[in-house]
Amino acid sequence: RYEPTNKAEVLAGRKAHFGGNLSLTYKDPVMLVRGWKHHLFDEWGRPYLDAYNNVPHVGHAHPRIQAVAADQLKRMNSNTRYLHPAQTAFAEKVLSKLPEPFEVCFFVNSGTEANELALRLARAHTGAKGMVTPDHGYHGNTTGVIDISAYKFNAKGGVGQSDWVELVEVADDYRGRFGRDDADRAQKYADLVDPAIAALQDKGHGVAGFIAETFPSVGGQIIPPKGYLPAVYEKIRAAGGVCIADEVQTGLGRLGDYYFGFEHQGALPDIVVMGKPIGNGHPLGVLVTTKAIAESFAEGPEFFSTFGGSNLSCRIGKEVLDIVDDEGLQANAKAMGDKLMMGLKALEAKYEVVGDVRGMGLFVGVELITDADSRREGTEIASYVKNRMRAHRILLGSEGPKDNILKIRPPLSVDAEGIEMILDALDQILSEV
Ligand code: PMP
Repeated sequence: RYEPTNKAEVLAGRKAHFGGNLSLTYKDPVMLVRGWKHHLFDEWGRPYLDAYNNVPHVGHAHPRIQAVAADQLKRMNSNTRYLHPAQTAFAEKVLSKLPEPFEVCFFVNSGTEANELALRLARAHTGAKGMVTPDHGYHGNTTGVIDISAYKFNAKGGVGQSDWVELVEVADDYRGRFGRDDADRAQKYADLVDPAIAALQDKGHGVAGFIAETFPSVGGQIIPPKGYLPAVYEKIRAAGGVCIADEVQTGLGRLGDYYFGFEHQGALPDIVVMGKPIGNGHPLGVLVTTKAIAESFAEGPEFFSTFGGSNLSCRIGKEVLDIVDDEGLQANAKAMGDKLMMGLKALEAKYEVVGDVRGMGLFVGVELITDADSRREGTEIASYVKNRMRAHRILLGSEGPKDNILKIRPPLSVDAEGIEMILDALDQILSEV
């Protein structure tokens, strides 16, 4: 058995110089040195199917992204204090994908930063501090947004819950208290927001807003029942708050039928946050909001981000959105997502450990359980499947409070052959369980 020494050296270097809580996927980690569309290649040149990474939205190493990045770096790269046509062009492209009330864009460097800014905007507009958010959510890695990320503050060693934050149960109709057989479940989950609002008001914080991943991803690839978000938004607005849709995972056509997740819900947020895929790997976060909210924020100190909205970032961001349109990637997400779901549903019928298959477009979750009666989370099964898939050179993730939900989220370039590979390998591996 050959183990290339350089991989071992890289691993040793990582152990020596990186923090221990920087996690590494797979018992036998992969080292990846090249990419092309939805394929990755290790140091030996062996190919892997990337069925997990939503950042290379239009595919790894896209030639059009390479070209605009190289072109802009040759010319110049500076900030938003000087005029540049790429900045307004990018803003206009982003806004062309959103309904009318959205008029103002803020450009930052990550989803985390965009959510930080969303909190500031909500507070500036409402004068309140309190936030309502679903349990198990994730909005980023800084002190400010960890406070609204139950996935982090409630974890072992986490900082705990701040008193200006109220959690509501995730609208998970597979595992939650209101199931799919309950026709009123959307409203019933939304009603859980009432006591959360009351608690914030009792504590004197008021309601600055509600923030949620439109489809909770780290919570387990959950699709809330239709109508959940509009009902929540109505309650939040009645309490004076603003509604923030974190579309980092769900936006930009991944869902196939919808460009943004809130469209599926029939909801209209006040602030939309985008990240990860919008830079295709270049660090980029975008917040869009209404004129009224932007004006409240503009009454405060100057807003400036050194790199946010740089000429380079704006060229890349616009190119990503143009490629989604030019290559018909939203329609591909729909076609490939439907094919994937059909195959997964067949596996659900075949294997008892597949408890639930859910998703939309190329945002898909496969919930693994130990048995149908108890529906106990199949955490070890998910770990086994993930590592065996890696042996079949297919990369995917696992997610959820008990880490038992396989997360399938390939770049939007994925083709029928790729989907068949995923399904064939899963069929074989599930038969081993
Ligand atoms: N929001 C959501 C829903 C995310 O999934 C993530 C990243 N996983 C973030 C925000 C934070 O984005 P970033 O890591 O780019 O700061």
